[in-house]
Parts: sequence; C-alpha cells; structure tokens
Amino acid sequence: MVSENLDGRIAYYTMEIGIENDVKTYSGGLGVLAGDTIRSFADMGVPAVCVAQLNERGYCKQTLEEDGTQISEEDPWPVEEYCEKLDVEVTVPINGRDVTVTAWQYDVVSERSGHTVPIIYLDTNVESNDPEAREYTQRLYSPGYGEDVQLAQEIVLGIGGTRILAELGYEIDTYHMNEGHAALLTLELLKENDMDPEPVREQTVFTTHTPVEAGHDQFNWGLVNEVLGEFVPQDVLKKYSREQDLHMTLLALNLSRYANSVAKKHQEVSQNMFPGYEIDAITNGVHVPFWVGDSFKELYDEYVEGWRENPYKLKHASVIPDDDLWEAHMEEKRDTIEFINEREGSDLDPEKLTIGFARRATAYKRADLIFYEHERLRHIAENVGEFQLVFAGKAFPGDEDGSGNIQKIFHDAWQLNDAINVEYVEDYDMEVGAKLTSGVDVWLNNPRRPLEACGTSGMKAAYNGIPQLGTLDGWWVEGHIENETGWKIGPEAEESEPDETAAADEDRQDAMDLYDQLENTVVPMYYEDREKWIDIMRNTMSFNGPYYHTQRMVREYLDDAYTQ
Ligand SMILES: *Cc1c(COP(=O)(O)O)cnc(C)c1O
Repeated sequence: MVSENLDGRIAYYTMEIGIENDVKTYSGGLGVLAGDTIRSFADMGVPAVCVAQLNERGYCKQTLEEDGTQISEEDPWPVEEYCEKLDVEVTVPINGRDVTVTAWQYDVVSERSGHTVPIIYLDTNVESNDPEAREYTQRLYSPGYGEDVQLAQEIVLGIGGTRILAELGYEIDTYHMNEGHAALLTLELLKENDMDPEPVREQTVFTTHTPVEAGHDQFNWGLVNEVLGEFVPQDVLKKYSREQDLHMTLLALNLSRYANSVAKKHQEVSQNMFPGYEIDAITNGVHVPFWVGDSFKELYDEYVEGWRENPYKLKHASVIPDDDLWEAHMEEKRDTIEFINEREGSDLDPEKLTIGFARRATAYKRADLIFYEHERLRHIAENVGEFQLVFAGKAFPGDEDGSGNIQKIFHDAWQLNDAINVEYVEDYDMEVGAKLTSGVDVWLNNPRRPLEACGTSGMKAAYNGIPQLGTLDGWWVEGHIENETGWKIGPEAEESEPDETAAADEDRQDAMDLYDQLENTVVPMYYEDREKWIDIMRNTMSFNGPYYHTQRMVREYLDDAYTQ
C-alpha cells in the first residue's frame, strides 16, 4: 500500500490532524489546517508524507449540563476501519527505557488528481511497552497528562516519527515542523550529522502558530534530564534553546533554514517575540471543496467553471445573480438550522438574522463579548430587528476558565431569552464547523488583539458567501474591507498582548463598537437593504475567494519554504 516513489519528499509533522470528522485526531484549528494542507498536497501532487500522533482515544467528547458545565469524555474511534497497520517498529528513549513505536497508515487520495499522501500515525500502544508507555499516543492533550507525558509525546513525534520514516524507506528532502511540538526531530537529525547544525538546518522548516507567549512549549531542565536524558548533550541543547529551559520554538527557529508565521499580522507579533530571527508570513487558507456546502457547490458549478481545480477563479463569483445566490444561501441556512434544531431540540427560525460563533472556549476569544451589556443588546433585538445567536466550542478538558466561559453564555442566554434566541451546539467538531460556517448569516469573530494568529473559520464562511463581523486580528486584517467583505469591530491591533487594565478597556470599547455595528449597519441592512447585503455576500466570495485557500498557501510553501 505504501506508494512506490519514496524519494525527494516533504515530511509534514503535526501533533494533530483533522482529516475527516470521525477520525478523532484533532482538537481545533491547528489540526484542521493540517488536514486541509494534506488534502491540497494530494490535489497538487506534492510528494509528501505526514507524520502525526494516533490518538486512538481521541480528544474530547463534550456534553453540556443544564447550566453549561462541560463534561469532557474521551472520544475513541475505530482505528482499523480507517487505517492499515504497518509492519514497522522502532524504539525511542523515554525515562531511561526504550519505548517501542509502531505505525498505522491512512491514505489521503485526491479525487481530483488521484495522487496519494500517506499519513503515518504513530502508536506506542503495543504489548512490549509498559502500561505508561502504552498511553503516550492514545489521547491528544489529555487533562490527566502531566508535562512529562507531553514531553514523551513530543519525543515520539519528533524522534520516533523520524526513525519510522527512515525504517519505512522514505528519503526526506525537507522536514516541516507544524508547530513546536515536532521540534525534537532536529535532535535526531543532529545525531545523524555528528552534531553539525548546518546539514540539519538545510533539511528543516518551521511554522509557528501562536502569538500567545504561554502557547510555546517550554520544559525545565530537570524534567528534560529525567524524560529525554542525554539524548544529545545538554550543553548542545542549551545552545539551540536557551539557558533557563528547553523552549521548543527557539529550538525549531535555531535549527531550521526557514520559519514562517501564519498571517501578516502574526508575522509582526512573532518577529517582536523572537527578535533576531527571520520569520516570513504565509497566510493560512482552507481546502475549498471540503468546506463549501452542497447548495453553494451547485451554485459555483453553474457560474464559476473550474472552481474546484482552480479556486482563483472564484473572482468570477461576481457574476452570480442575486436571486440564485440568495436561494442557495437560504437552502444552506434551512439545512443548518434543521441540523441544530434536531440536535439541540431548539426552535431557531430560518427567517431571522442568524449570527454564528464557533471556536475553542478560552478567554482571549471572548465568546461572551456580545453579552457585555444586556440592555443594549436587548434594545437592538427589540427595536432594530430580531436576531438569533448560535454558539459552539469546547473548552480544553480540565480548563476551568474555559468551561466557565460556556457557563456564562448559558447564563446570559437564560437572562435574555425573552428577547433573543441563543443556542449552544454541543460537541463542536468538523461537522458542526462545516454546518455553521455554511448556514448562518454573519460570522462573528472577536478575539482580543493580537492573540489570534490567523483564524480559518471566517475563511470557511467566506467561501459560503457569509460575511464576517470581526476584530482586526489574524487573517481579518488582510481580508476585511469595510462594508464590502464584512465589518470590523474596534481599532487595529497593537503589537503585543495588552495588560489587564488595557484589556478591560479594550473589552468595553470593542463591545460598544460591536453594538454600534449591529444597530446601525448589520441588522438594518439585513432586513431593509437585501440588495446591498447580497452584494457583500458576493464580495466575500469574489474578493476573498481567490486568495484564502490552501492551494495558494501550499504554492507559497513550495516557492518560499520548500525550495532551497
Ligand atoms: C475551522 C475549525 C477551527 C478553526 O477555526 P478558528 O477560526 O481558527 O477558530 C477549529 N475547530 C474546528 C472544528 C474547525 O472546523
């Protein structure tokens, strides 16, 4: 089953990957991006292989209690139904013992080109391992796992993954570390090259994904000594990390020939955070046919010939007539609302302006910003025009603050329920994501600036003709044209994280701006100027459609990152 040509490849390493909804090897944006990237690699015939952690017990199955308390359970999936077990075995040193790593293969086959990109899923759940080692690859970011297990997982991914590829006979030209989780692969390459960093750098590239300081993995030396031991001498490690700890982003930056951030704003922030390194910008994208709803597929088939092969053609979406566009949108919307109503037992109404918000429940994403001042929100719903709100998103299992965010939304919803219908869709995953980004009227995105590296859900919305109302952060700095592709909330981002007082001021300012936009523009336009509204829908496709796709993104990786 392993495809024949194993030479000259790009090896794409990622802790998580969202390849299809029921293969539970992803938690959120990082994994979904990896999935879209691999789908486009396959479409474009890029000779690549992907390495990821198996996560046979998934990430998190979310159920919500009456008051919004999140219950997080593991989310197993039937590995054998999707993957083929490979006859391969290597060992890696963890905690002073040899841990066996084996692998499964999932083939991503492009419908378009017929080209295959294999995903090699790493698995330590084998009999020869002790119970603790058997756990390492079973669950993505488990709350029960301490830093030692996290480091063990990164050893399996970086070092184990590289040994598995070698054992399988892959000849790799470029190792791509998708986030710092994979950075230990540089140590394996250092060993292969007698500790000479130059040949290591020649072979590796690195993408950083987070502008949040705490989002960069850091392990103290005591832990590193215990778990990784003297895999390479510690003075070597210190040289490529820093004195105080093993910092995975610094390790990756110091031992790669090329590094990039995932949006232009994110580049500025990353450059600030890591002065002295050259960090390029390649703005993320989405795999278009994967995220476009059925009615919009038909619409594009009719008016934009060749859009699947060549999403640049979506500029021709400008010719789609108002009536056809609106009809396709209403079909998507009815479908989405039926999906939610069935799942949640709710009574959302397809005739009402519907605002969608779905992302991980964590403080900086500010899911509850729209509830900042109930009176103001109520006033808009009662006097300007009715609207309903749809939320989805999981908190990291064990993240009390994140779970508290969801409870707060439940509480706000309950207090406002005589004026505004608010629904929270349980268990946000790729299916829920696709339904929401294809079938609401407005996509709301209001992270605290500049903490959103890129964001891709708003791009999915754009390909379904849905405008975004969002703070100017991540991709929206690039994709926003006021009143043409959507609307902004608040001022432009600063280059660093605001302190607490500044953050509180910003929340207030952004909330007021959000209300102004809803009251003066979004709600009245939806009900009273449908023609202008449809113009904006068309622009989201024809202005942003040609750019925010993974085909363009992969092209940039080929030109700027993978060529030497
Ligand atoms: C698209 C997607 C994301 C990423 O969206 P953001 O805008 O980056 O938050 C996360 N989770 C799921 C399930 C998705 O489909």
